[in-house]
Amino acid sequence: MKICFDPKEWFVEAAFPGIRRCKRDIFGLKKEIFKGKSKFQDIHIFESPGFGKMLSLDGIIQFSQSDEFIYHEMIVHPLLISHKNPKRFLVVGGGDGGVLREASKHPLDELYMVDIDQEVVKLSRKYLPFVSRGSFKDKRLNLLFADGKNFIKENKDFFDAIVVDSTDPVGPGKALFELNFYKSVYEALRKDGVAVFQLGPFLDFDLIIKGIAGKLKKLFEFVSPLRLPMPSYSSGCEYCFLLAAKTTDPAEINIKEITRRARQRLDEKLSALKYYSPEIHHASLIMPRIWQL
Ligand code: SAM
Repeated sequence: MKICFDPKEWFVEAAFPGIRRCKRDIFGLKKEIFKGKSKFQDIHIFESPGFGKMLSLDGIIQFSQSDEFIYHEMIVHPLLISHKNPKRFLVVGGGDGGVLREASKHPLDELYMVDIDQEVVKLSRKYLPFVSRGSFKDKRLNLLFADGKNFIKENKDFFDAIVVDSTDPVGPGKALFELNFYKSVYEALRKDGVAVFQLGPFLDFDLIIKGIAGKLKKLFEFVSPLRLPMPSYSSGCEYCFLLAAKTTDPAEINIKEITRRARQRLDEKLSALKYYSPEIHHASLIMPRIWQL
């Protein structure tokens, strides 16, 4: 049976090649905002009832206005709080500016962002300013447009914390899921460095998450899944980031210490967060038996 959706009324998410064969998400399309192509990918910004404004790259949803805060708070704060005293921070990808917005709340000295696609940054600032909320103007920021896999090789023993906020392993993001890239991330970190990688739904635990965790474990002493809900993603279940550390196990930091660091560094900004709290941080590192590495 073939079911057709009018593209003027519905956005049908692209299937992730080879993985989500059995399921597609379809969003009501209330308003077209931008539809075009950059040198690297198809870019589509639209408004959907309920989810609000949404960004898709190569047909895959990157975030929605209604739940991006969960993703961005959880990809940044557990990572930075897991480090004793982070000063130099890098985000690879993250063109919408959401990672930057959360990282800029911390007392870091230098923030670096490297995205391959200047168009994503330009269009996000123009049409989706609620994501970056002025953080592209942060005086500590060094913004570069380059392939993350090349940039990271040039900076050894330099960063305290790295976020890999890439697209999925198709198109320009593919290289950011390979062992060589993970090796460069490891080498770009200082001796007690930490990194977090956006991965995918736990639905793909055996197919994707376990394999990538295996690659990271060849390099990092500690690798932990971090779980969060992402209603706008084609997940059907909780979403997974992988948190990797060189010297201290993030899953072993007790809640008292998480709270102490979070209060000291974020001050009144902590209670203004919508999803992250020290309790959620701690709980998000506790895995059901089936998703333990
Ligand atoms: N939260 C999103 C998700 O998981 O769906 C990711 C958001 S962010 C918009 C992804 C960014 O990664 C895009 O801006 C894209 O241009 C960037 N990107 C993809 N491949 C890259 C590469 N090789 N180097 C640097 N940035 C890359």
